[in-house]
Amino acid sequence: MDDDKKIIREHTFKTWSKQSSWEPIIVTSSRGVYFYDSNGKKYLDFSSQFVNVNLGYGNERVINAIKEQLDTLQYINPSFGAVVRAKATKALLEVMPKNLTKFFFSTSGTEANEAAVKVSRLYKKPSYKILARYRSYHGSTEASISLTGDYRRWFVEPNTMPGVVRFPEPYCFRCPLKLKYPECNLACANYVDYIIKQEKNVAAIIVEPITGTNGVIVPPKEYMPLLWKIAKENDVLFIADEVMTGWGRVGEWFAVNLWNIQPDILTTAKGASASYVPIGITAFNKEIGEFFEDHIFAHGHTFEAHPVSLAAIPAVIEEYKRLNLLSHVKVMGEYLGKRLLELKERHKSIGDIRGIGLFWAVELVKDKNNTPFGDYEDKYEGKPTVVDIISKKALEKGVYVYNGPSWLIISPPLIINKEEIDQGIETLDEVIKEAD
Ligand code: PLP
Repeated sequence: MDDDKKIIREHTFKTWSKQSSWEPIIVTSSRGVYFYDSNGKKYLDFSSQFVNVNLGYGNERVINAIKEQLDTLQYINPSFGAVVRAKATKALLEVMPKNLTKFFFSTSGTEANEAAVKVSRLYKKPSYKILARYRSYHGSTEASISLTGDYRRWFVEPNTMPGVVRFPEPYCFRCPLKLKYPECNLACANYVDYIIKQEKNVAAIIVEPITGTNGVIVPPKEYMPLLWKIAKENDVLFIADEVMTGWGRVGEWFAVNLWNIQPDILTTAKGASASYVPIGITAFNKEIGEFFEDHIFAHGHTFEAHPVSLAAIPAVIEEYKRLNLLSHVKVMGEYLGKRLLELKERHKSIGDIRGIGLFWAVELVKDKNNTPFGDYEDKYEGKPTVVDIISKKALEKGVYVYNGPSWLIISPPLIINKEEIDQGIETLDEVIKEAD
C-alpha cells in the first residue's frame, strides 16, 4: 500500500491544489454510507464525496445493470442507436420536467454545461451573451469555468470565454446588495431584467437553482419563479444547472420542481448514475430539439452516449423509486436540519445553517460580524483555513466532510438513516469546538 501511495503521489495530480502538502489516503473498499482505507479504518461519508454518491456504495442492482451492459455491448459510436440508449431515454422522460424531451449525453457536469452554452448560442444566433452569477460553479473547462463566477477558480484570466455577464446571487446571509429580505423586494433578481435590456444579445441565463459548492445558498421562495419569468419575458433561454441539486438531493427529482418552473435547458451529472460510472446529461425543450432538424448540431464526443454510462441511468432511477428516496430524503432532511440547528445553539462559531433535503451548509464565522474564516485563495495557496482543519479533524475521527473555505457541506448519501446522521453530528459537535 505504501507503494500505491508513493506512485499516486509522485505521478498523478491532486486537482485545485499545490501538490506539496498532499498525503493521499488509499481507499480500498466501500459499502452503504461507509468507505474503508488500506489500514481498515472506516469512514462515514457525510457529504457523498462531492455531493454525488447519491445511492451510497455497493448497490448490487446498479452494479449488475452496468455489468450486464459490459457483457452485451461495451461501445458503439453515437451515430448508432444502442438499445440501452432507448431504455435510458425512456426512463429520463419519466422523471425530467415534462417540457424537456431531447437529451445529449456526455460524461461530466462540466461537459453538460459546455453543451448547454454552445447549443444556446447556436439556437439563439446572433445572440451570444450568457448571464451567470458571481457565486457559482459550473465546471472546469474553458466555457464552464468562464461561467463560474467565483474568480478564484479562474487562474487563467483573461483567457476566459468572452460574452459572459455576471449578476449578484440571493445570498441573504451576506447580501451582495447590502439589503434585507423581504424588504429588498428581490432586488438581486429584478436587476437581471435591467442587465438583459442594457446588454442586448443575451442568449441564456444559467443558474444553480441552489448554489452548491459556493455554500448551499437556498434562495428565498419567490426568487426562482421571478428569475424564470424575467428570462421568459425577455426571450432568453433559462438553463438550470442541476449537476448537484438533481436526483433527489432536495427531496424532488430536480430542484426546479420545488418552484414548479420549466427551464429550457437542464444540465445534470453526479446523481444521474449515482456516480457508479461517469455521465453528463444536457436536456433540452422540444423547440430547441426541433430546431436542429434543419440546423447542424455542431457538437459531440467519442464517449458521448457511452453504453456503459447509459446502463446506469434506468437502474439508478429504479433504485430511487424502489427505495422511495424522495420521501426518505424529506424525512431525513428534516431530521438532519434539526440536528444541525442544535449544533448552532452550542457553537458560537456557527454563523448560519441553511439547506433543504439532504443538502446543507454549516457556515462558520470568526466573530459576531460574521467574518469568514478564509477564502478560496487561502485554500489554494495551501494555507488551510480553520474550516479545512475542522474537516481534517473530522476525517481523523472517521467522518468525511466536504468543505469550502468557510463552510462545511453536509450532504450524505440519500440512503442514510437517523443513527448514521447522529454519528456524523456527534463528530461535528466535537470538531467544531476548534473554531469557537
Ligand atoms: N455544475 C455544478 C453545479 C457542480 O456542482 C459541478 C461540480 O461540482 C459541475 C457543474 C461540474 O461537474 P463535473 O465535476 O462533473 O465536471
